[in-house]
Amino acid sequence: MILDTSKYLGKCACGREHTLRTKLVVCEYGALKSFDKYMDDCGLTGFRTVIYDTNTYNLPGITHIRADQEIVLEAKGLHSEKGLIEDCMKRFVRKPDYVVVVGGGTLMDFGRWSAWKLGIPFVAIPTIVSSDGFTADICSIIIDGQKKSIPMQAADAVICDMDVIAGAPMFLNIAGVQDILAKHVSIADWKIAHIVSGEYFCQKVCDMAQEALDIMDRCAHEIAAGKKPDLEAMAYTQMLSGLTMQILSNSRAASGAEHLVAHLVEMKPRGFENAHGLHGECVGVGTLMCARAYHKLAQRESVTVHPFVPIDEEWVRWEFGDLAEGILKENENDVLKTFDPQSIAEHWQEIRQVIAAIPSYEELNLLYADIGAKHTLEELGIDPAVEDSFLDISSAIRNRLTLARMTRLIEK
Ligand SMILES: [Zn+2]
Ligand SMILES: [Zn+2]
Repeated sequence: MILDTSKYLGKCACGREHTLRTKLVVCEYGALKSFDKYMDDCGLTGFRTVIYDTNTYNLPGITHIRADQEIVLEAKGLHSEKGLIEDCMKRFVRKPDYVVVVGGGTLMDFGRWSAWKLGIPFVAIPTIVSSDGFTADICSIIIDGQKKSIPMQAADAVICDMDVIAGAPMFLNIAGVQDILAKHVSIADWKIAHIVSGEYFCQKVCDMAQEALDIMDRCAHEIAAGKKPDLEAMAYTQMLSGLTMQILSNSRAASGAEHLVAHLVEMKPRGFENAHGLHGECVGVGTLMCARAYHKLAQRESVTVHPFVPIDEEWVRWEFGDLAEGILKENENDVLKTFDPQSIAEHWQEIRQVIAAIPSYEELNLLYADIGAKHTLEELGIDPAVEDSFLDISSAIRNRLTLARMTRLIEK
């Protein structure tokens, strides 16, 4: 599949003018054999520096593309940290005209950061496609010991050679399936926020997210039926998802209340002390919990709401311990203050319709079990007792309007 991203650009019915740095996305078997042609198509010429790590350099199926300088970083201990990236940049024999990175998400940040620093383009050659970061413009990096997600330059081109990607372990691909199926919830959250508060919404971007979701849903059911995974289509959905983030400059279409489980697993508040799991696995369990909670809410034929009250400080301190200050700060300008709570009650039938499009907990749970995906809190080392307060805990950690967060305005 070759995706010419120009079809998403320009003036849109949503009122905005959409732009994308990424011009070309390729997901094909043998794609690296045509790499030079793709670079010509994108107008990328001149001194080419190619960055690998010791793992990706030696991958089976890898084609080493032509390079004016090749840098192979030691894979052991490699992580996205500013100092390490600057060390890598010191190895540049001259300022490249563009940087090409061959690797996974961590290595991409080396290319993203150095290209941004030098004001040059970068090209991504993913060796694994279990996440949607390759076409996004977010850099997740540790600066002075603190992990930061900074909007930064997106790749000018992303070239996935399926011969390379086909060698990745299946559990990583399965986690990638869960990350895309999370859109069952994230799209619903975005639509509901728009209905209730008038938050910005773009049908075109929503359709891109929906297309990624529909394709991945088909792929997941094929895997469940014992068919060979359609890796090309699965990679394509990740690329499409990343492009929605690049267009919006945020993850609205890709990440709703379900994604917060992944953040909680990293933050380790009460009940999550021993939590662990891949991003997609955490998000998968979050999707199940949201599906269950949202469908339960939708059983109510009407709801009563009450006026906004700030988040309960005592509860935050008990639940989050040392993390409480950060959580309270996140909730300072609570998005729940920005609209009339009555709007939830008035639009309740529309909200129920949006929820109706989310598969049931039972259906999703069965699918995850059939494809060998993690699907219980216990598998992630999370205390099952958090299930009851899950919506409250997760929505407290990010000030984004989701149905989970709105439950603070709905009478129990
Ligand atoms: Zn638009
Ligand atoms: Zn995700």
